[in-house]
Amino acid sequence: MSNSKYFKLDEFINSDTARKNNINNTPNENVKENIKNIMFVMDEIRKYVNKPIRITSGFRCDSLNKKVGGVANSIHKTGLACDFTFINITESQMKKIAIYVKDNIKEFDQLIIYTDRNFIHFNLRNNPRNMLLESIGKGKYKKLEV
Ligand SMILES: [Zn+2]
Repeated sequence: MSNSKYFKLDEFINSDTARKNNINNTPNENVKENIKNIMFVMDEIRKYVNKPIRITSGFRCDSLNKKVGGVANSIHKTGLACDFTFINITESQMKKIAIYVKDNIKEFDQLIIYTDRNFIHFNLRNNPRNMLLESIGKGKYKKLEV
């Protein structure tokens, strides 16, 4: 696995919430490998977007996941997920990214656009499902038609 061109591991680990709450969000080696895998795929998305992407949430240890109100089995705990955004992101840009991912990323699990909160959740998984979804309220999703 080559290194990410655009991202640093820390961007997927550092968390203001963890820092403020003295939570040690250090990943183990397996999780680090998972993070590297998603960084590699995020490079493709970054190239397509062609502007700086901010990772708003990457790996979450169990305590951090609880603190941010993540579901108990959140894929973020494996390191295979990230939430991201960029400055002035729009709903139509989020949909374009979804189309790009559908057409160009061979194996991904879920891409979820949160139009109300201006970010995208993206994750890999063993047995990936290649699903595009749209958040329609807490814990509710519908298939994204693009
Ligand atoms: Zn997420």
